[in-house]
Amino acid sequence: MEGAKEDFLRRFGDDYGYPNALKNIDEMRSTEFKRLEGLAYLDHAGATLYSEAQLEAIFRDLSTKVYGNPHSQSDSSQATSDVISEARQQVLTYFNASPKDYKCLFTSGVTGALKLVGETFPWSSESCYMYTLENHNSVLGIREYALDLGATVLAVDIEEVEHLRSPKQSIHILKHSTQRRSEANSPREIQNGKCSGNSYNLFAFPSECNFSGKKFPLELVNIIKGYAGSRIGDSLQCRGSWLVLIDAAKGCATEPPDLARYPADFVTCSFYKMFGYPTGLGVLIVRNEAARLLNKKYFSGGTVSASIADIDFVKKRENIEQLFEDGTVSFLDIASIRHGFHIINRLTVLSIARHTASLATYTRNKMLELKHGNGLKLCLLYGRTVEKANPSNVGPTITFNLKRSDGSWFGYREVEKLASLSSIQLRTGCFCNPGACAKFLGLSHLDLLSNLEDGHVCWDDADVLHGKPTGAVRISFGYMSTFEDAEVSRLLLSTS
Ligand SMILES: *Cc1c(COP(=O)(O)O)cnc(C)c1O
Repeated sequence: MEGAKEDFLRRFGDDYGYPNALKNIDEMRSTEFKRLEGLAYLDHAGATLYSEAQLEAIFRDLSTKVYGNPHSQSDSSQATSDVISEARQQVLTYFNASPKDYKCLFTSGVTGALKLVGETFPWSSESCYMYTLENHNSVLGIREYALDLGATVLAVDIEEVEHLRSPKQSIHILKHSTQRRSEANSPREIQNGKCSGNSYNLFAFPSECNFSGKKFPLELVNIIKGYAGSRIGDSLQCRGSWLVLIDAAKGCATEPPDLARYPADFVTCSFYKMFGYPTGLGVLIVRNEAARLLNKKYFSGGTVSASIADIDFVKKRENIEQLFEDGTVSFLDIASIRHGFHIINRLTVLSIARHTASLATYTRNKMLELKHGNGLKLCLLYGRTVEKANPSNVGPTITFNLKRSDGSWFGYREVEKLASLSSIQLRTGCFCNPGACAKFLGLSHLDLLSNLEDGHVCWDDADVLHGKPTGAVRISFGYMSTFEDAEVSRLLLSTS
C-alpha cells in the first residue's frame, strides 16, 4: 500500500487532508474516530459519521446548561430560544441565504421538509409539478399532492450542452416522461403538457444525485424561474410562476447551494448527512415570498396565536417559523448542531469537497482500469461524466456493477457479502432513487413491473433478474475518509 499511497499523494496531495487544521487526517482518524479502527466505512451518502470530539462537546453542553421548553418565559426557555435562533442563523449562513429573504424552518429531516412543501403548495388543476428523473423517492412523493388536485406531473431528463454561451440555451430538457399512477392496480395515464392559466408550478431537482453523484447545474434555478409563461421543451406550456426546490440532502455535505447566486424557493437538508449527529433533524430553507404562498392547514401547539376549543375559530401565527413548525421543535438536537458546524467550518467545506473528491477520483480511475485476464472490464461505473470525472460536476460517490470474465453480472448482494467479510461497509440497491436506477441500469417500465411481479422489492436479495441487475453498488466518502479506506475497497474489487 505504501507505493500506492505515494502515487496517490503525488497526484492528489494538494487536495487530500486538511493541512491547515489542528490535526492532520490520520491524527483526526486515530483520535476522533477510534471506533473505525479495522473497518472501512464507505456509506457516507447513506449517513456520514459524527466525531467522538463532537459528541463530547454536545455532552458537555447539554450536561452543563439548562434548556427549557422554548414556549415558556423562564431563563431556561430563553436559553433554548437563543440557541435555536443562533442555529437558524448558522444554517442560513451555510447556504449564503440572507435572513432578509429566507427563513430556516426545522423539520424531522429532508423527507419531513419535502412533505411540508407537498402538503402546503398552492396546487391547482392548472399547476405543473416537474422534477428531474434522478430524484429521491421523497421528492417523487410530492406528486401525490399535486395529482390529487388535478395538477400535471412531469419527470424530465436534463441534458447539459456545454460550449453554448447563453445559459438559457445550455440546458435542454430532453423528454417528458408520461407519469403513471396506479389506482386499484391499474396504471392510469396522466396527461401531460396541458398546464395553463395563472398558477403556481414547482420544479424539483437534487443538487447532487444520491445514486450517481452527479451534480446538477444550479443555474437551473434561474433558468426555470425565467420560464414564466413560456415553452419548456417541445410540448409543455405553463403560464404562471415557477418555484424551484433543491433537494440538497446529498449535496450539502460538500457543496451547499449558494442561495445568493441561485435564489431557489425551497432547499432541504438533513444534519446526519453533513456531520452524522443528530439524526431526525433537517431544515426547509424557504424564501419569504414562497412561504407566503403556502397553505398551512393543520394547527397545533406552537403554531396558533389563539383558538377556541368548541367552535371553528383559530388565529394562526404570522411569524413564518412559528406557523410552520408544529409542536415543540427538537430543541436539544437543534442545540447540538453548532458542534457539527464547528467541525465543518474549521476544516472548511471547500477543503472537505477537495479531500473527498481526491479519494473519489482516485478510486474511480483505478476501478476503470480493472480488467479480467481476457481484457474484459470488471467495473461498469454509472454517471455521465465519469470518464473525465471532475469534482465540480460529480460528488464523492461511485456507483457501479461488476461483471464476470464471461460477461455475466456479478450480483450486488454478492459484492456486499464479500465486502462485509473484509469489514467494508457499503451500500447496494437503488438508494431510494428509482428514476436514476432505471436510467443507468437501462430498466424499462416493463422490466420494473415484471421484476415486481417476480416478487422483487426494494432491499431484497434479487440482485440480478432476467439477466439485468436490479440495483448497483455504491461507495461514498465523507470528510474523515482516508486513502486507506479507498485503497481497501479497490483491493477488494481487484480480487473479486
Ligand atoms: C438522504 C436523502 C434524502 C432523505 O433524507 P431524510 O433526511 O432521510 O429524509 C432525500 N434526498 C436525498 C438526495 C438524500 O440523499
